[in-house]
Amino acid sequence: MIQATTMAAFPPAVHDLLALEGLLSPEERQLRDKVRSYMEANVAPVIADYWERAEFPHPLVPGFAALGLAGGAIKGYGCPGLSILSNAMAVVEIARVDASMSTFLLVHSYLAMLTIGLLGSEEQKQELLPRMAKFELVGCWALTEPSNGSDASALTATATKVPGGWMINGYKRWIGNGTWADVTVVWARNNQDGQVNAFIVRKGNPGLRTAKIENKIALRCVQNADMTFSQCFVPDSARLPEVTSFADTNKVLAISRIMVAWQPVGLSVGVYDMCCRYVTERKQFNTQLGSFQLVQEKLARMGGHIQGMWLACWRLSKLYEEGRMSHEQASLVKAWTSARGREVMALGRELLGGNGILGHFLVAKSFSDLEAIYTYEGTYEVNVLVAGRRITGVSAIRAASPPKGPQAGKKGAKQQQQEAEAERK
Ligand SMILES: Cc1cc2nc3c(=O)[nH]c(=O)nc-3n(C[C@H](O)[C@H](O)[C@H](O)COP(=O)(O)OP(=O)(O)OC[C@H]3O[C@@H](n4cnc5c(N)ncnc54)[C@H](O)[C@@H]3O)c2cc1C
Repeated sequence: MIQATTMAAFPPAVHDLLALEGLLSPEERQLRDKVRSYMEANVAPVIADYWERAEFPHPLVPGFAALGLAGGAIKGYGCPGLSILSNAMAVVEIARVDASMSTFLLVHSYLAMLTIGLLGSEEQKQELLPRMAKFELVGCWALTEPSNGSDASALTATATKVPGGWMINGYKRWIGNGTWADVTVVWARNNQDGQVNAFIVRKGNPGLRTAKIENKIALRCVQNADMTFSQCFVPDSARLPEVTSFADTNKVLAISRIMVAWQPVGLSVGVYDMCCRYVTERKQFNTQLGSFQLVQEKLARMGGHIQGMWLACWRLSKLYEEGRMSHEQASLVKAWTSARGREVMALGRELLGGNGILGHFLVAKSFSDLEAIYTYEGTYEVNVLVAGRRITGVSAIRAASPPKGPQAGKKGAKQQQQEAEAERK
């Protein structure tokens, strides 16, 4: 007989040990409750099977769209204009049940839509954002390349000016939603001036090929793609006019990183809630697991981490809303919550014993999913080095290379420019 199955209703939310919801406005709480009900009722019962099959849950999109979250903080153009904290509460509730769905939303809304909203032309905004807000069009965001991950500013995809438009050539890797997105925001180097620009490429463009990245152990519902741009023509109107250099990626990443910092909070509260129910249902040595001291210590450690993670993210969000957040603060919090989240996942996985490695108990799914969040939007290492640079005033992001030969120390203009861009990132 299976005890303590998670196939029953999703467990109640019992993770708010410090009554942190008191820091939310009534509107933020209302949105949180709406998203929580939707996720528990519609996503939790079916998502483990999609995850197992590494499929995106397309039938869930209409219901998900009706939550009115896409476009996030963007005002106008059919977007909800939510506060950063309202957005964050939605991200937490989605990730509490499934991190793939929260990543799907973040890529679509906080990378693709936000880039168009912040850096696109009026025509691009008018045409794309209202339809993207309804998920009639789905977006993806293509920066990373096979040879340029953490060092994204060294990207080698090119954009060549041709009559009436641009020809894009190059490769992108890991692009979330990339196999089926209608709208790709792609970053490529303008080979007239060497600066990074951004372009919108539509699904069906004959110069774009995509291939799903198989065998992922994390975020298995997210369809990550390898993308090949081969003589991919886009008209002049597809260029995002406000992007003039790589530094513009930061305008987007500074905001999206806040949301990514909240994702481990969502995963952690879901695993904690799951474990709290499990330890009351599951019995060993004639008593419930929750009566053992070592089990209680694990729950207390998980609960403590969650309160700290939540508070750090809350403070980061408030600093952003006050216009005072630095990108080093976003990096610090993103790195820290993903590291603490990993500990919470590991403790939760231990508490479920053998069931802790089964996808259908959802804890193993979250345990795996956090690994991707630890790495994307800047790996843990690169984000702590960004914070470390602010703390010490010394950058350790680039390995110091010993001077060689008479030209040592004389860097070319292109190299100097690339290094300055990378340092800003
Ligand atoms: C599931 C998933 C979804 C993603 N979605 C997208 C997307 O939608 N769009 C997109 O553009 N990209 C996306 N990415 C790419 C992601 O941003 C990169 O994977 C990330 O930036 C790391 O790059 P990399 O994987 O090439 O690792 P690398 O840069 O090769 O790093 C490998 C290791 O070296 C370490 N390292 C690198 N540089 C330094 C340094 N200076 N000091 C110390 N350590 C260092 C890293 O921390 C890491 O541990 C996604 C990735 C994943 C896994």
